[in-house]
Amino acid sequence: MISRRSFLKVCFSTLVGVSTSELLFQVAVSGGSGYRKIPVLAYHRVGYTTDNLTVTPERFSNDLDSLQQRGYCSITLGEFQNFMSDRNVELPEKPVLITFDDGYLDNFQNAYPILKRHGMVGTFFIITDMLWTQDRLTPENIVEMEQGGMSFGSHSVTHRALGELDQTAVYDELVNSKAILESVLGKKVDAIAYPRGSYNEAVVQIAKNVGYNTGFTVREGICLKESPEFELRRIPIFKYDSGVINVIANRGHLL
Ligand SMILES: [Zn+2]
Repeated sequence: MISRRSFLKVCFSTLVGVSTSELLFQVAVSGGSGYRKIPVLAYHRVGYTTDNLTVTPERFSNDLDSLQQRGYCSITLGEFQNFMSDRNVELPEKPVLITFDDGYLDNFQNAYPILKRHGMVGTFFIITDMLWTQDRLTPENIVEMEQGGMSFGSHSVTHRALGELDQTAVYDELVNSKAILESVLGKKVDAIAYPRGSYNEAVVQIAKNVGYNTGFTVREGICLKESPEFELRRIPIFKYDSGVINVIANRGHLL
């Protein structure tokens, strides 16, 4: 008979700037993390542009403070994917996947240093046709961030709504963005965040066929182990939000 394993799992980020008593409080004892609810936050810009998809660096830093105070531990895209595909994978007691769409330069200039300061990690979805344009991440930025523990996925080549394209165009968007990012990173890229949240059955089938494992939508909700891997829900974050913990409860439909 196989005995149930138990683990002491400490989130690295909780080691930053907390006292021993707080740390002991946050240590999670777990005999299996299959029940974990994983909020996947969807940010865009972190800076001082005025649209609703931009949060200020101060606000972003406050969001990370709030997450840590509530015991949330950021996980990498790889940890998230391993958990979704293998029931023996352990996660921290309160995991969170922090994602950013569209690959703006402010992700490198503002979000990345704030994440590092908190000992946290993020996942960035890149529009590959924008890689060499003003205001967007460069390949050099991406390599530096990846070496700093950040994760990357595709947000297509051109940011067109995949659910509205013919199958050849969907294939090109998925295959070419994947290949370009893989050549930048020198490693496999197998997650897509559907631009504008647009996808359909054909898009999912093509994504599977060309080697993706994971697809993120912009539908509100929380991720569970049994969530469909190509229709994963996220929690969009907007400029006007206050209190990321409340946002997780409300848009994660946890109330
Ligand atoms: Zn987008």
